[in-house]
Amino acid sequence: RGAPAEREVASVCPYCGVGCQVGFRVRENRIVEVVGRDGPANRNRLCVKGRFGFDYVAHPDRLTRPLVRIEGAAKDPADCLDPARARTKFREASWEEAMERAAAGLARIRDTHGPGALAGFGSAKGSNEEAYLFQKLVRTGFGTNNVDHCTRLCHAASVAALLEGIGSGAVTAPFTAAADADLILVIGARPTENHPVAATFLKDAARRGATLVVADPRGNGLDRFAAEVLRFAAGSDVALLNALLHVVVTEGLYDRQFVAARVDGFEALRAHLAAYGPEAMERVCGVPAAQLRRVARLYARARAALILWGMGISQSVHGTDNARALIALALLCGQVGRPGTGLHPLRGQNNVQGASDAGLIPMMFPDYRRTGDSTARAFLEELWGARLDPDPGLTVVEILDAALRGEIRGMYIMGENPAMSDPDAAHARAGLARLEHLVVQDLFLTETAALADVVLPASAWPEKDGTVTNTNRQVQMGRKAVEPPGEARQDLAIIVEMARRLGLGWSYAHPREVFAEMARAMPSLAHITWERLEREGSVTYPCPAPDAPGEEIVFRDRFPTPDGRARLVPAGLSDPGEMPDAEFPFILSTGRELEHWHTGAMTRRAAVLDALEPAPTASLAPAELRRLGLAPGARLRVATRRGAVECTARADPAVPEGMVFMAFAYREAAANLLTDPRLDPLAKIPGFKFCAARVEPA
Ligand code: SF4
Repeated sequence: RGAPAEREVASVCPYCGVGCQVGFRVRENRIVEVVGRDGPANRNRLCVKGRFGFDYVAHPDRLTRPLVRIEGAAKDPADCLDPARARTKFREASWEEAMERAAAGLARIRDTHGPGALAGFGSAKGSNEEAYLFQKLVRTGFGTNNVDHCTRLCHAASVAALLEGIGSGAVTAPFTAAADADLILVIGARPTENHPVAATFLKDAARRGATLVVADPRGNGLDRFAAEVLRFAAGSDVALLNALLHVVVTEGLYDRQFVAARVDGFEALRAHLAAYGPEAMERVCGVPAAQLRRVARLYARARAALILWGMGISQSVHGTDNARALIALALLCGQVGRPGTGLHPLRGQNNVQGASDAGLIPMMFPDYRRTGDSTARAFLEELWGARLDPDPGLTVVEILDAALRGEIRGMYIMGENPAMSDPDAAHARAGLARLEHLVVQDLFLTETAALADVVLPASAWPEKDGTVTNTNRQVQMGRKAVEPPGEARQDLAIIVEMARRLGLGWSYAHPREVFAEMARAMPSLAHITWERLEREGSVTYPCPAPDAPGEEIVFRDRFPTPDGRARLVPAGLSDPGEMPDAEFPFILSTGRELEHWHTGAMTRRAAVLDALEPAPTASLAPAELRRLGLAPGARLRVATRRGAVECTARADPAVPEGMVFMAFAYREAAANLLTDPRLDPLAKIPGFKFCAARVEPA
């Protein structure tokens, strides 16, 4: 900062799924400023992370040479808390030595114990090309489908329900469809914190006159723009949504024509909903029956209504049921497939949509073709020149469980930090420490890398070319702005080198070659080429022709199911997880905050963001703090049946009494040491938003 930049490179923000286009302003191989560009998702706007979150790229903590574990240096989960101590257990190595050791260890386990003893975690922070190649490496080089990434901790439940209900896991409309909506329902999402630029479009719509309905157990930054605020009890999503559905059905507000023409399962859902009247559900969800009736009528009678949801819906042990009920609401009311309507699960990471599309999930190949689908398998076996396992692999939490049991013995982790992001992190760290061989590819000696055998220094997003796909299905071009430090290498080159050493004869020289192969493997990318993205910056999929814009609103006439019809799936009530009791009387809810992104590896190394939120806090209602005898700013301890952490008390009127909220970005008070690892049975996503906790003075 100071002297003017020498050049500006057009790229995409590396943080959230909004996918704001940015200009990296560079001087002497350093980013000195980031500005917003006129991308379709941001129209020159940026939030505080996009604007100020770039110091991590040139941070002195960056890994600049490969590291290998010193012989005899024990893997101790306590090293996750102490990077300096962790560093003493490694020595620097040449790339040749590190890659040889990394690949030989994985090959030995594969050849001795079979492919099922290996697993890989890719990353939603890498490019589409990296995600595609990483899953291809695990499936063809390791020989297993044990490959997953943080989508399992994010929107797995939404995708499971959407695939089941309408045959596609992606959004049916961009969040900018809010401009054409006359009602917008935001539930279990906090866009002002987690998708701030998307929030500006929602605020624009509300100012224009659209009816905004916000449903959240906590006070929400959008509340003051909302016509209706539904403060429902944590974990009672299905009760709330079934009450809305009940009103729609019993008052005859549903779209008969749409349901008859395009939807199956109406009669079964109608029968199921009989028990979910608003008066009965008021006692469960805490929202007055009159308000439930009012909101149901508003939604059903809206000319065009859009639903946006987030982790509050999906990160639940009944996340799939939550999403099923939302999907049913839109289908019953015919609020899909027209301008201003739609279902939009706001994607978390910048490329979680693209990484999932590219096949970085254990039960599906690229473009969501199931591993058991023999036609899809035969096509990919031909394209990839390798045999593929028909059995689905293990998911994120299942893989670390298997590691702890000694069944998974080796892992390759690229850009993920499960030692911080997995539920019951002590358990996850123990699983990582038990691995015979762990290879971690990252920018820093993260909490996960602290338990590795080999650490490979990788490249930051502004150091590489590649495409990413945002929450709106917009495939966008990221461009290299600066060189990586020291000997750090491009992730794509590291994956290709790993594949070569595992016996695969890969020779991709540039991401455009990978993208060209992806376009052959993935019909969703039809008419989207690297050259077109270089020229246009962003193209939405699906795209009907080489010179046509992509389709923002999909499923106008039919759903992508075998018969073109959608399916209503009834959802019932169940416990939201570990219930509070006398010993642990609070509900612990975890999530993000505006200034820090996920496990904090990037944003806590950004000076402005770190200055804004420098330390971990636990937020409670002011009345709860008074009851506990705690002043704001005092030290407190939050404990669950998994562990305890200490941090600073924050008084937050947005938090309901009986709840404590913590962000999961802070190593020194890692919220995931506390969270409950039980999973949604279908989507295998943990319930990060609900477990029993105790709060006391430290
Ligand atoms: Fe980056 Fe998301 Fe902020 Fe846009 S809204 S600048 S994509 S973090």
